[in-house]
Amino acid sequence: MKILVINAGSSSVKFKLFEMRSEQVIVSGLVENIGRGDAHAILHGCQEHVRRDLPVADHDAALATVRDLLIDNGFIDSFDTLEGIGHRVVHGGERFSGPVRIDDTVLEAIEGLSPLAPLHNPANAKGIRAMRNLAPHVPQIAVFDTAFHHTMPPAAFRYALPERFYSELSVRRYGFHGTSHAYVAAECAARMGKSLDAVNLITLHLGNGASACAIRNGRSIDTSMGFTPLEGLVMGTRSGDIDPGLLAYLSRETGMDAEELDTLLNRECGLKGIAGTNDMRDIENRMRDEEPEALLAFELFVRRIRKYIGAYAVLLDRVDAIVFTGGIGEHSSAVRHAVCKGLHILGIETDKMKNENLTDEGGAFHAEGSCSQLHVIPTDEEHSIARQCLPYLTQGR
Ligand code: ADP
Repeated sequence: MKILVINAGSSSVKFKLFEMRSEQVIVSGLVENIGRGDAHAILHGCQEHVRRDLPVADHDAALATVRDLLIDNGFIDSFDTLEGIGHRVVHGGERFSGPVRIDDTVLEAIEGLSPLAPLHNPANAKGIRAMRNLAPHVPQIAVFDTAFHHTMPPAAFRYALPERFYSELSVRRYGFHGTSHAYVAAECAARMGKSLDAVNLITLHLGNGASACAIRNGRSIDTSMGFTPLEGLVMGTRSGDIDPGLLAYLSRETGMDAEELDTLLNRECGLKGIAGTNDMRDIENRMRDEEPEALLAFELFVRRIRKYIGAYAVLLDRVDAIVFTGGIGEHSSAVRHAVCKGLHILGIETDKMKNENLTDEGGAFHAEGSCSQLHVIPTDEEHSIARQCLPYLTQGR
């Protein structure tokens, strides 16, 4: 039973092919620089690394290239032999609270949500359109980054703005990274030997984008990203929380317009704004030479996470585990150590040796007697999307 997972961005398409009986990745790859002269496709997971440099005008051409690569290298006979196709979609708005089988109405709704995610939903929709043309008989399922956070109560998802901004312009907190938070939460409950609806967790997805999630009885009750993925933690190139009054000040003082401010806060801030790089490995290397910018970037990053842990611990009453995931959460023992150090007020104690000696599968690193467990769990959003497709595959084929 093969399921293809597609993550279509504005100029790239990533894909992973799963065999769901064994839950194994058969092959993965991407098409990059769509619409540019240097477009190319790459296939990982074959005996040889396959790369093709070829013209790829648009998403239709990109996905036709994916099909050809998979067929030419013997992974499928045709798209029609796929059991299902899962699409990552960034924004599901208020409408989509879980995965959905895609039809014309669903596709129109995804496109209709583009004003809320102008960089992502139009590209996601192009990927869906292309796959529906190339594989019209295969069930296609949309899995939304926002869906897991549908369980947030109004006090978590509303901003303290006049009601009309919510009712007329859909201004509210949506949260993102939902597939990742949901995946590591389920995995953590399994590792703890408990059912998901019996655990309270704080999950920390720390990659280039970063967000925290407060999970009560397996359901998201708050998360740090908001109307856009800009709110919350300090990220690779995003500022996270700032005083909203700063926007008016910057606009008055520098003449920056809305687009310029958006670019500044999304692309030029965060770790990069402070230390000139969004790569935590570089920052850690430079900290060894006690470089002030690197030390400050690290401290800002860690301090913001700790503030969210404190806030979420209060909201949750009881924290059974804190979970680290994403490139930084999975690989930086220094960040994990700094985040968890001195959380005695929450009764949390780390085991330094365990923290520094985790394998690629992650593992637990709390000390014996710690009130909350501490886990590193590698996220796997594509795998989660493939699993979420399963219940929708048999309908109407
Ligand atoms: P994305 O959000 O783009 O998927 P990732 O989850 O891959 O990003 O995370 C990227 C971040 O992880 C970068 O800041 C990178 O420096 C960091 N990272 C990856 N490996 C390590 C490591 N061994 N130690 C510290 N940071 C790491």
